[in-house]
Amino acid sequence: MKKIVVALGGNAILTAGEKATFENQYNSVTKASKFLAKIIKAGNKLVISHGNGPQVGNLVLQNEIAAATIPEFPIYALTAETQGSIGFILEENLNNTFIQEGMEKNIVTLLTRVEVSSTDEAFKDPTKPIGRFYNEEEYKEILAEGRFPIKQDSNRGYRRVVYSPKPQKILNAEIVNSLVEDGNVVIATGGGGIPVVREDGIYKGIDAVIDKDLTSSKLAESIDADILMILTDVENVYLNYGQENEKKLDIVKVAELEAYVKEGHFSSGSMLPKVLAAIEFAKGGKESYICSLNKANETLEGRSGTKIIL
Ligand code: ADP
Ligand code: MG
Repeated sequence: MKKIVVALGGNAILTAGEKATFENQYNSVTKASKFLAKIIKAGNKLVISHGNGPQVGNLVLQNEIAAATIPEFPIYALTAETQGSIGFILEENLNNTFIQEGMEKNIVTLLTRVEVSSTDEAFKDPTKPIGRFYNEEEYKEILAEGRFPIKQDSNRGYRRVVYSPKPQKILNAEIVNSLVEDGNVVIATGGGGIPVVREDGIYKGIDAVIDKDLTSSKLAESIDADILMILTDVENVYLNYGQENEKKLDIVKVAELEAYVKEGHFSSGSMLPKVLAAIEFAKGGKESYICSLNKANETLEGRSGTKIIL
């Protein structure tokens, strides 16, 4: 029996190009739940963390549009909201999947704050994409009006970017651990966690978005998990991704992967944080996987995905 932390990509909740209705997100998670349930059925203990890029981006936009009537909330509070809404969608779908498959499992969603450092270098340059994609024309307009920082995202268009400091400490990690050790499925650190800084001993939310892959790695380390699985919409990590000479990585050692990072094979904001998160966890002598949600079980059986080891 392995203790596994899975990081569920935003694509599993909202497919790119799909309308962000509640129903669409709910239905996507219904499908994702079948794959997550398989991991548990195979006899593993599971902690689920998830992205919130599109969702928190939409909330930011909703707040912007409604600002004349309803005061805007800080982004960290909106991340807390998405932990609740996405957590609910995941929890209910998993619960129903367990019922349908005759599995006796409790599942619980925890609001999770994650401590970051106020002196993190990341506060000098916003890098984390959130929200919808903007086209070239909109991009130029937003830049001209100086509305918010915006950058290109993996050749798929332009997106708003926010500060993305490193996760330093998962608050309540002991509680996540005792719940999962007791056989419960735990949903925690959604959206990378609610970022807080500690000043004069006091915690305070800070406007940033922590990368969910890095947070998941930190969480996996904090609860002494055996495996970190980063579940996304591609089956493998590739070298020269999207080019004619692209090459799939099956099993890769940390040192080798670090060299590929230096060679610039992974886009920041998408594959790079996954690779860095996987490296970080594997450095502790544990296994990291980057794989497709639909092939999570095949990956655990060594038949799919990219495996990262020390
Ligand atoms: P998630 O929502 O699961 O976090 P992302 O969109 O952030 O997913 O990251 C996955 C995407 O990373 C893939 O769909 C792919 O387009 C992109 N990508 C960038 N570089 C690579 C690479 N070297 N190998 C595989 N995928 C890559
Ligand atoms: Mg992502």
